[in-house]
Amino acid sequence: MCLAFACFFSALSYAQATATSAVSSYVDWPPSILKPLALVRDNPQQVIDDSLPQLTKITDPVVKAGRYFIISRAYSSLMLHEKALTFSNQGLSLLSYDEQPWLHSYLELARAEALKGLGRAREGEHEVAKAIRWAERNQSNELLVYAYSVAGYMRLTLSETDEALSSFQKGYRLAEETSLRLSPADFSGMIALVYEYRDEPSLAIPYFEEAQTYYRQTDQRLELANTLFGLGRSHLKLEHTEKGLQLLVESARLALDIQDIQGAAYSYQQISEQLIKAGQLEEAKSYLDDALQLFEDAQNPYQQIGVLLLQARISLIESNHENALSLIKAAEGIAQGDAFLPHQIQINHLKAEAFAARNDYEDAYTLLLAMHDDEQRLQREKNSQRLMKLKTAFDTEKQRTQNALLQEQNLRQQAELEQEREQQRYTAIVVSLLLVISLLLLWQHRISKRHQIRLESLANHDGLTGLLTRRKTLEDTEQQLNLAHRHDEDISLAVLDLDYFKQINDQHGHQAGDDVLKSFAALARQTFRSTDILGRVGGEEFLFVFPHTSVEDARKLLLRFSESVKDIPAMINREALTLSVSIGLISGEQAKTPSALMALADEALYEAKEAGRDRIRIYNGQLHVKDAVR
Ligand code: GH3
Ligand code: MG
Ligand code: MG
Repeated sequence: MCLAFACFFSALSYAQATATSAVSSYVDWPPSILKPLALVRDNPQQVIDDSLPQLTKITDPVVKAGRYFIISRAYSSLMLHEKALTFSNQGLSLLSYDEQPWLHSYLELARAEALKGLGRAREGEHEVAKAIRWAERNQSNELLVYAYSVAGYMRLTLSETDEALSSFQKGYRLAEETSLRLSPADFSGMIALVYEYRDEPSLAIPYFEEAQTYYRQTDQRLELANTLFGLGRSHLKLEHTEKGLQLLVESARLALDIQDIQGAAYSYQQISEQLIKAGQLEEAKSYLDDALQLFEDAQNPYQQIGVLLLQARISLIESNHENALSLIKAAEGIAQGDAFLPHQIQINHLKAEAFAARNDYEDAYTLLLAMHDDEQRLQREKNSQRLMKLKTAFDTEKQRTQNALLQEQNLRQQAELEQEREQQRYTAIVVSLLLVISLLLLWQHRISKRHQIRLESLANHDGLTGLLTRRKTLEDTEQQLNLAHRHDEDISLAVLDLDYFKQINDQHGHQAGDDVLKSFAALARQTFRSTDILGRVGGEEFLFVFPHTSVEDARKLLLRFSESVKDIPAMINREALTLSVSIGLISGEQAKTPSALMALADEALYEAKEAGRDRIRIYNGQLHVKDAVR
């Protein structure tokens, strides 16, 4: 089929209006190249005619290589692939890749296109990939877009339609992004070609149409001719005969206008096929004669075979068997070598038909039998190609899965680490919180303990004198009393009452009374042991308990104490008042409980008061016995 879109040369064709603008961000074409570049697309033949005589005059090798590039491209546009190859090779011989990677890449791409046209697409594969890499690295977008178009065509020729579509789609996107010379519409045309090749004409048509509209608007006749050709073929495949023919005729007319001889030949061939189907054999013959001539001129062996076989078919329809066989023989002469295997099979089919038509059934049978091997070989080749493709796809998929697995593993490990770290953070926070809480609790405990001690102290001590309260005095006394009773030890209790205290208050004021009470308590604390119990049990009434002390010893102590009490007024600078204390003393063995002992001691106190105060009375079991101490 016609890969006529190979002549898309937009990457390099500059509209005159923009001829002075930069070619790419990296390298510029010299001005002498820019003008013919712009023309390649519209009129390749004219570019060749103008350029060839100039070649000898150019001395600068870079400028000359650029020229060769243009000529090669122009020949490619005209489907003259041998010539295109020769000129690209000549251009390349003037340059080294290391010094001129940009121009070198352009020439390699032109060479790859020529090779593709000659059925040797594989030979350009490496260079196309290299050009793409260079263009990507150096952000030479214009080169890249051109390279994608070449790569796409190359893949399409190799029947690798997925890769072809991918290349063209990349080009489509990049062309859209950068608005370079290769327009998205150009790539639409390329994508349509892939669908056409895949025999999906209804998918191809919208893309061809997008391209057609664009080329009509921009008056790009060569591209328009090619697009109309593809569009026409697609319509024919869908049995839109009239529409298809009309498009093909327009395509041929345009191609002739711009001297795209082969382009016209392709259209003629297609038109003839259609005419044969319609039974218009004479008209078909004249189209085919022209087409054959044109393909011969263009040295296009594949299409020559195609035309010869169509001519042979017409002869068969006309029952001109000998003529048919001689045309077939001509085709056989061209289809030599392995590259023509599919054509050889095609030829043999027709030949067998011709034999059968003139009743040489045996020859027909022998031929078909011989062909069987060829067909199997072709099938095997196709199968092994398919197998390779499948294997590659499988390997890629396997790699992808492995990568995905590795990535997932990585992610999982990361997540685990993160979780561990999170947990550590959490633990640290909890521990710190617990520590703070513990400290707070400890602090609170200490405070409350102190508070409790203070409360207890408040509850157990009298506010004015600091001596034990009545309740605490009795509690402690009971404890000591029990101990003394259990161990049979001495213990003595004394009830003390200040004499005429009411008078002190009345005569010297309540404050003086308070001062006396405080000094009295202070003196008691000074005088007695810390193990003695000193309590205030009434307003000016006290209970003193002396463990491990006999009544006699207690009496001596109390006597000394009551003498000191008389000095209190002097101590508090209130010499005007007199102070004394009366005391009832009792031994712990006289009764069991503190209250009973107190009651008995009170009796002794009463005796002391009665006897004139300022004295000690000891309770000795006989009430009202006068045991005057003084
Ligand atoms: P007696 O020698 O018989 O004990 O005579 P008295 O006046 O000491 O006895 P009385 O019971 O008649 O009076 C006790 C007085 O003690 C009455 C009260 O106003 C006074 N008093 C009691 N507690 C306090 C106190 O805390 N401060 C002062 N300033 N006076 C108090
Ligand atoms: Mg009293
Ligand atoms: Mg009193």
